[in-house]
Amino acid sequence: MTVMIVDDSCSSAELLQAQLVSVAEKKTTIYLDPKDALQACLQSMPDLVITDFVMPQMDGADFTKEFRKLKNNEDVPIIVVTTKEDRDTRLRCLHAGANDFLSKPVDEIELQARVRNMLKLRARSVALSRAISRLQDLATTDELTSVNNRRHFLEILRTEMNRAKRYNWPLSVAMVDADHFKQVNDRFGHAIGDNALAHLAHLFCESVRDHDAVGRLGGEEFALCLPVTSIERAKMVTERVRRRVAETGLRLPDGDELNLTVSIGLVQWQGVTEDSASFLARADRALYRAKERGRNRIEHD
Ligand code: GH3
Ligand code: MG
Ligand code: MG
Repeated sequence: MTVMIVDDSCSSAELLQAQLVSVAEKKTTIYLDPKDALQACLQSMPDLVITDFVMPQMDGADFTKEFRKLKNNEDVPIIVVTTKEDRDTRLRCLHAGANDFLSKPVDEIELQARVRNMLKLRARSVALSRAISRLQDLATTDELTSVNNRRHFLEILRTEMNRAKRYNWPLSVAMVDADHFKQVNDRFGHAIGDNALAHLAHLFCESVRDHDAVGRLGGEEFALCLPVTSIERAKMVTERVRRRVAETGLRLPDGDELNLTVSIGLVQWQGVTEDSASFLARADRALYRAKERGRNRIEHD
């Protein structure tokens, strides 16, 4: 846990720092200029801020306001140290996002108690954010391949359909299915089959752009969502995917190489008259044709 002290007076800042040794160990940093403090927060967010109120560059309320505009700091507590007892000053600080006050001269025991409590709350809030982010990952990611799971992929697709509608952008979707995958399992076993699915997902992710989405819809069937992409451009993207898979074998434990191919059904969204289910069903029909016509190929509308 790190504490940031912002105070234009070096001696008051050092006094605070000395008083906090038992609470925050050595992890307190002093900033004499609030602007430098804000700059430093862009690199690394402290877990608690103690700021003086009267400073020549900007007062504690303005500093607090600027600090709250930065990202990822909603839960970082701010204590304002002030000699001003007036209600207006305190209200300004509270409105700016301050959490607590300490009056000068600072009572050492009170300072330590407040800082200890706030760091405890902060620690709990950091742990909670981490847990939420881990749950979000679990809820949105396919465990075996690390791409979006079906539910999350469909959510992304609907979001992209809304965006495409609003800006009148093209949107394409590709359904990608591994060819004769049952034989892979039958010949090499389920564990290698699993590795092969992860290998395919990895190749898909490498072959598309950052704002494209890859999802595993189930089994050995994947889908690509290609925003701002007409069918013409999507053909190029999916051809790259198809070729990449066909050219990149998976090295097996015994040194052999497992060669895989995929069939792809590609369609462009027809606009508001088509919902996500019909959109995907059309891609599925194109995929079916690719299977019928010999596999390792792309079919589109
Ligand atoms: P096609 O070219 O027509 O798509 O043939 P296919 O064999 O790929 O298709 P089919 O639907 O007959 O078989 C799909 C196979 O994919 C069978 C199933 O065991 C395998 N599979 C589905 N999910 C997984 C998985 O999570 N791990 C492994 N190892 N295999 C899986
Ligand atoms: Mg298949
Ligand atoms: Mg299948």
